[in-house]
Amino acid sequence: MALADTIRAAVQTGPRQIELREFPRPVIGPQDGGLLRVEACGICGSDVEQYRGNLSSQWLPMVPGHEPLGIIEEVSDSAAARWGVQPGDRVAVEILIPCRSCDLCLAGRYMSCRHRIGSHGGSNPPERGLGLWGGFAEYIHLHPNSILHKVRGDIPAEVAVMYNPLGAGVRWACHLGGVELGSTVLILGAGQRGLAAVLASRAAGAGTIIVTGLARDGFKLGLAREFGADYVIDVEAEDTVSRVLSLTGGAGVDVALDLTPMAAQPVRDALSAVRWGGRVVLAGLKGREPVSLSTDLIINRALTVVGAFSVDSRGYAEAIRLIEAGRFPLERMHTHTFGLEDIGRAIETLAGEVPGEEAVHVAIVPAA
Ligand SMILES: [Zn+2]
Ligand SMILES: [Zn+2]
Repeated sequence: MALADTIRAAVQTGPRQIELREFPRPVIGPQDGGLLRVEACGICGSDVEQYRGNLSSQWLPMVPGHEPLGIIEEVSDSAAARWGVQPGDRVAVEILIPCRSCDLCLAGRYMSCRHRIGSHGGSNPPERGLGLWGGFAEYIHLHPNSILHKVRGDIPAEVAVMYNPLGAGVRWACHLGGVELGSTVLILGAGQRGLAAVLASRAAGAGTIIVTGLARDGFKLGLAREFGADYVIDVEAEDTVSRVLSLTGGAGVDVALDLTPMAAQPVRDALSAVRWGGRVVLAGLKGREPVSLSTDLIINRALTVVGAFSVDSRGYAEAIRLIEAGRFPLERMHTHTFGLEDIGRAIETLAGEVPGEEAVHVAIVPAA
């Protein structure tokens, strides 16, 4: 199939301002990466922040979309050898394009790379200019340092693209939280990452899984039960900590994860609901606002508190294996698909700004 000369991509130019533009098709030279035909790109809370203009405007104009899944259309020989892919392969693309040589990269902490080249759908240094780096586009121009993961081709794109939220669930619950066979887990927040943490905890063999949500989260809490949560708590109707203590015979849970945006109380609830010596994983950003809490609680109960920054390759790889195993009805989590023309509406739908729409997982499908 012959490629078109121009490629359509969504360009954000300001807060809530996204327009479709045409870009010339990049020429992939021998030292370049490749060209990825985007099948689907997921949307998350940081897309909402970016859309509203709460992140730095120095990034603009840019092509957003940092959770892409697609088919390799073109690849240089050197990149094909490095990635082990050929045209036609389906891959997931990580957001960061690291240097792959600094001390942090070599230690596996490439998400904090000191000399990062840029990102797919996040910030890029001004000298890279406006390019086809983000996933809200027909094609992504891959850098040789881009990080790819092969994904089996027979899974529906809207499900395969869940490698991103599911990778967060795997890393935050299992790798950082230490959820394992028999663990008792409290997951605060029932968004797509809360649900992903339920799936990861269930897959890891957790004993008891408890999930919290708001009164309006009925659909999400129902999904949590479907994915393996044993108990759900409506935090507007009952006290989280006393319910968790009563469900665990007064002991508290082994692991608590705070995945709630902006709210302070779930952090305090997490610290009070874990057992003596338990672990608390913090992943819900609070808009840089301070959270008041008693650090004595952490000391006297010998707690471990972990900050969950981003997801790493191991998290994504295990999430992809979980998707490929097909054991969970992941498609139940996918609620909305939009085309490239409707990105503003897609983001507003995920953000809960569209009356009557209850969104959990939203994806952009350029061919839709
Ligand atoms: Zn995201
Ligand atoms: Zn580096």
